[in-house]
Amino acid sequence: MRLLTLSLLLRICIAKISLLFTSGGGQLGRMLAYPASLLNIDLVILDPLPNAPAKQLVNPLHSSVNHLDGPFSDSDYVTKLASMADVLTVEIEHINVDALDAAQASSKAIEVHPAPSTLRTIQDKYIQKEWLKARSISIAPFCSVEASEQAVRDAGKSLGYPYMLKSRTLAYDGRGNYVVRSDADAAAALKALGAGPEVDEKSRRKLYAEKWVPFEKEIAVMVVRGKNGEVRSYPVVETIHRDSICHLVYAPLRVRDPKIIAAAKQTAERAIATFEGAGVFGVEMFLLADGAILINEIAPRPHNSGHYTIEACESSQYENHLRAVLGLPLGSTEMKVQSAVMLNFLGPPTSTSLLSRSQPSIDELVKTALNIPGCTVHLYGKAESRPGRKMGHVTIVGASDAEVRTRLRPLLLQLGVDAQ
Ligand code: ATP
Ligand code: MG
Ligand code: MG
Repeated sequence: MRLLTLSLLLRICIAKISLLFTSGGGQLGRMLAYPASLLNIDLVILDPLPNAPAKQLVNPLHSSVNHLDGPFSDSDYVTKLASMADVLTVEIEHINVDALDAAQASSKAIEVHPAPSTLRTIQDKYIQKEWLKARSISIAPFCSVEASEQAVRDAGKSLGYPYMLKSRTLAYDGRGNYVVRSDADAAAALKALGAGPEVDEKSRRKLYAEKWVPFEKEIAVMVVRGKNGEVRSYPVVETIHRDSICHLVYAPLRVRDPKIIAAAKQTAERAIATFEGAGVFGVEMFLLADGAILINEIAPRPHNSGHYTIEACESSQYENHLRAVLGLPLGSTEMKVQSAVMLNFLGPPTSTSLLSRSQPSIDELVKTALNIPGCTVHLYGKAESRPGRKMGHVTIVGASDAEVRTRLRPLLLQLGVDAQ
C-alpha cells in the first residue's frame, strides 16, 4: 500500500495552465487530483487532516504553495484558501459559505464554482427542498419540524407513519436520518439526531420531515454544468444502499420502458439548470412502481454514484468537473463500455444481521478484485477503518450486464451478500 502512495507522489508538474483550489480532501478530492495532473492543473487542498486522501496524491513539494490543514467551516481558513486562488471549488458542500461570499466580494478576481448561493441552498436540505418545490420539480411531501416531541408527533400526523426525520445540515451516509415509525419514537428520534433537550439550544440540530417514499429503485444521474450554463447528463444509474450507505451502482439503469430513462435525465437536468455556477452535480432520485420520479437530494460536487465514470465513460465526472469550473470545453458523458458496476469497500458493517458473519478485510477484498478482469481498484489512503466508512471502491466493466455481474460475483460472495 505504501509503495502505491509513494509512486504516485512522483508526479511532476511541467507547466501550470491554471491554479485550482479545492476545499475538502477526501476521496472525491483524491479522484479529482488524477485528471488535474493530466491537465497540468495544480490543486491545493483545504482539509483538517494533514494526510487527507487527496493531499496524498497532490504533492506540495512540486507546488509553489502548500495545502492547508484546517476545517472548511472556519472562515479564516476559507478566506486564506480564497486569497491564494484563481478558482475555488468544493468536494464537500459543508463549507462556510459566508466566507466564500466574502471572498467573492473582495477585490481579488476569484471565481467560486458552483456559486456560493447554490452551495447555500443545497447544504440545507430543507431550503433545497423548498427551492425545488418552488420550481415545480417533483419531490416527496415534506415539512419543517421544531426540535420538540410534540412537533415530531405532529409531523407523523400530517405525513403518516413511517416517515423520515432528517437533519437539515451536515448529513451524509444516512447519518442525519431517523425513521419515525410511531408517536412513541419521538424522544428517541430527537436524541439520535442531536436535537433533544440534552443538547444546548445553540448546538441543537435543525430538522425537517419527509413523507416515506415506497420506491421501487433508487436511481441517480450526474449532471455537468458549464460556465455558460450548458448542461450535459451522464447515463441514469441504479444505486443500491445498505444501512443508508451507497453500496452498489449499476450503469446504465435497465428498465423496460425507455421513457423512464428520458424522464430521469430530464428531471435531473431541469433541476440543475435552476442553479448558478459550474461543476458537476449528483442528483439522487427515487423511481416509483408507477414510473414516477422524485428527487431525493442533490449534491453540488462529484458524487459516489459517478465513480464508475472514471473507467466507464468517455470523460469522467472528475475531469468534467475540472473542465466545467475552468471554462474548458465539456467532455462527452457517454459510456465507452456496455456495462459497469461500482462496489464500495466499507469499513465493518453496523447491521447486526451482518455482524454475525465474519467479514473480509479490505486487503482480502483487494486480493480478490485484482484477479477479476475489467476490475479497477481504488483505495483512498484512509488511515483508520470505521464501521461503514468508505475505504475504497472497485469499478468492474464488461461487454454486457451478464458479464459484469459474473465478474462481480466473487466479491459479493466474499462479502456474504446476495447479488442484487
Ligand atoms: P448521502 O450519503 O447520499 O448524502 P444522506 O445522509 O444525505 O446520504 P439521504 O440521501 O437523505 O441521506 O438518505 C439516505 C437513504 O435513506 C436514501 O438513499 C434512501 O435509501 C433512504 N431515504 C431517504 N429519504 C427517504 C424517504 N423520504 N423515504 C424512504 N427512504 C428514504
Ligand atoms: Mg446527502
Ligand atoms: Mg443521499
